[in-house]
Amino acid sequence: MTEPFTLARLGDAGSEIPVVRVGDRALDARSLTADFDGAFLAADGIARVAAALDTLPELDGAGGLRVGAPIAAPGKVVCIGLNYRDHAEETGAALPAEPVIFMKDPSTVVGPFDDVLIPRNSVKTDWEVELGVVIGTTARYLASPDEALAHVAGYAVSHDVSEREFQLERGGQWDKGKSCETFNPLGPVLVPAADVADPQALGLRLWVNGTPRQAGSTANMLFSVAHVIWYLSQFMVLRPGDLINTGTPAGVALGIEGNPYLRAGDVVDLEIDGLGRASQKLVQA
Ligand code: ZN
Repeated sequence: MTEPFTLARLGDAGSEIPVVRVGDRALDARSLTADFDGAFLAADGIARVAAALDTLPELDGAGGLRVGAPIAAPGKVVCIGLNYRDHAEETGAALPAEPVIFMKDPSTVVGPFDDVLIPRNSVKTDWEVELGVVIGTTARYLASPDEALAHVAGYAVSHDVSEREFQLERGGQWDKGKSCETFNPLGPVLVPAADVADPQALGLRLWVNGTPRQAGSTANMLFSVAHVIWYLSQFMVLRPGDLINTGTPAGVALGIEGNPYLRAGDVVDLEIDGLGRASQKLVQA
């Protein structure tokens, strides 16, 4: 019986150190892997961490280091649109009969406390707290949703930052309003799937400058995490390290009276039950 642990990456962007958090201790995992990436997850990395927990040294000075995204740049970031009834309603969209899929540039993934850049010429930068699902083993043409959760490495708080004018008013696909620089803060930690008893029973909350804006539950997803993974696997191969953003509940600026879109200097705080809390300041690009 090992203690519960989470995975984090600490240090400057691009040279993060893989760290295992156990309680308030930060353990240096570099004896196990150079980084927490798809190859690590595919090689049964989380089980290897569990087995090595007693042998990993403390990381000196961990508290002073920047917190990076808990996984290295994913191979792809796949997002589910309109996956909560109340969010679909606030946007005026019809409820989808099948999951709505769009892609996000994987290089948008940044640390959970990094600044988020408001794109140049943006007037409608918006927030979206989401349950992020990290794939652990290749999922290809799954026979049913019952097989899906076995392919999950873990879960993390994900912020699917969105520019609504670019997304909805400038033509083409949604990707344009979703792939701006820094538009996917992730973390603070990756919680192993085994330690999330039910991914459909997690509260998600988001504040802007301390004002509560989103307060939902993954219980209200139109398509469950298992359904989404099974569904995606019919159209693309999900590979270790890939990130799925599973949709956002109601309460985004697009759906609020007066549309209070984000401005430079604003601070967004977000959290999900058991997955930790993140905070980002908005800065003009
Ligand atoms: Zn989203």
